[in-house]
Amino acid sequence: MMHISIIGGSVGGLSSALALKENDGYDVTIYETHEEIGHPLQCAEGYLAAYELEVPPRKVIDCTIHSCIVRTWQNGVRKDRTISSEKERMWIIDRPKYEQLLANRCEKLGVDIQTGRRATVRELKRESEYIIDASGCYSQTSKEYGFKYEDVRKALQYTIEDDFSEYYEGKTIVMGYEPHYIGYYWIFPKSPKKANVGIGWVDSGDLHAELKRILEMENIEGNIINKTGGNIPCKPLKRFTYDNILLVGDAAGLANSFTAEGMNNAIISGRIAARCILKHSIDGYRDMVMSKIGGRLYVGRLMRNIRENRYQMFCDGLEKLDISFETLDSPYRLYRTMLTRPSLLIRTIMLRTI
Ligand SMILES: Cc1cc2nc3c(=O)[nH]c(=O)nc-3n(C[C@H](O)[C@H](O)[C@H](O)COP(=O)(O)OP(=O)(O)OC[C@H]3O[C@@H](n4cnc5c(N)ncnc54)[C@H](O)[C@@H]3O)c2cc1C
Repeated sequence: MMHISIIGGSVGGLSSALALKENDGYDVTIYETHEEIGHPLQCAEGYLAAYELEVPPRKVIDCTIHSCIVRTWQNGVRKDRTISSEKERMWIIDRPKYEQLLANRCEKLGVDIQTGRRATVRELKRESEYIIDASGCYSQTSKEYGFKYEDVRKALQYTIEDDFSEYYEGKTIVMGYEPHYIGYYWIFPKSPKKANVGIGWVDSGDLHAELKRILEMENIEGNIINKTGGNIPCKPLKRFTYDNILLVGDAAGLANSFTAEGMNNAIISGRIAARCILKHSIDGYRDMVMSKIGGRLYVGRLMRNIRENRYQMFCDGLEKLDISFETLDSPYRLYRTMLTRPSLLIRTIMLRTI
């Protein structure tokens, strides 16, 4: 039986394995450095069903999200704008539980999951028909082949116990865009008394000090029960394949540069990688991934570019345009929304980038 090795037992690796097992002709092994699937957590646990992704299983949902409070500052004055979703498509999930559920499904289908096991491409190449590298950023392949990622940002998060009932009962999250750095801070409620609160994309300085300042500003005083952080790879690599290796999720640089979402891109790219392997045709893998998720990534880069270079224009857009979660789905939807404000549209087109 042909053997496929997967490096990384997180959302990307587990989704790839499940898709590979749609065809029983493969023997699949997942190697995961950590002792336990799902731990340690490095995520705010916001699951957005972009593309055709299904609703996560009910038992892993902590909170269903209907809207997002986008917080900006203009001339020192805080402004809140609530953006909602046309349909139910975002949840705060228990990600460790979700990954353990995927891992259980994998094992039932005969996938061998080896935890506490760091793998290298060099050792796996000998025994594997294909390797799926879902080892995150920076990927194992990049370490052995020596290629670099562009535009990798840092994020830091605390899980805090306090009164978050306003957000939890209101089924809403907060994304705060302050003028002095290019990322955002978030408050994602997990229960009335617990939330993930974090910050990303601060170029320099002390992320812990910034996050503590934000906690003070938001009057969040409770106990910090977990601290985590990590890299956000904001630019897709030019190549997603090296020899018989396919890069999936963060390993391919597939996080959204505006929102930092990466779970959905890891799942989608993992499934496409599996389909390419089942067809023994991996040359078109990158094009297939980008044709599926490239539109949303493009809008993410464009939004970040506006936010980074034209903060006032970013605030104007939020105030004047009829924006929903779906506006970020494709350039077509974003530009169509902007038709009501031609000057904003022209200035945006002048700033566009990918
Ligand atoms: C603070 C923070 C908050 C975030 N919040 C969100 C959010 O709310 N929503 C969202 O969608 N995205 C979020 N993201 C991004 C999201 O977490 C990633 O995009 C996503 O986890 C990518 O999944 P992946 O499977 O590609 O890689 P990862 O989740 O990074 O998994 C890689 C796995 O490979 C393992 N591994 C690495 N090297 C080896 C090796 N040599 N051998 C064996 N195993 C190895 C690692 O231990 C790890 O388990 C956040 C990221 C950060 C840092």
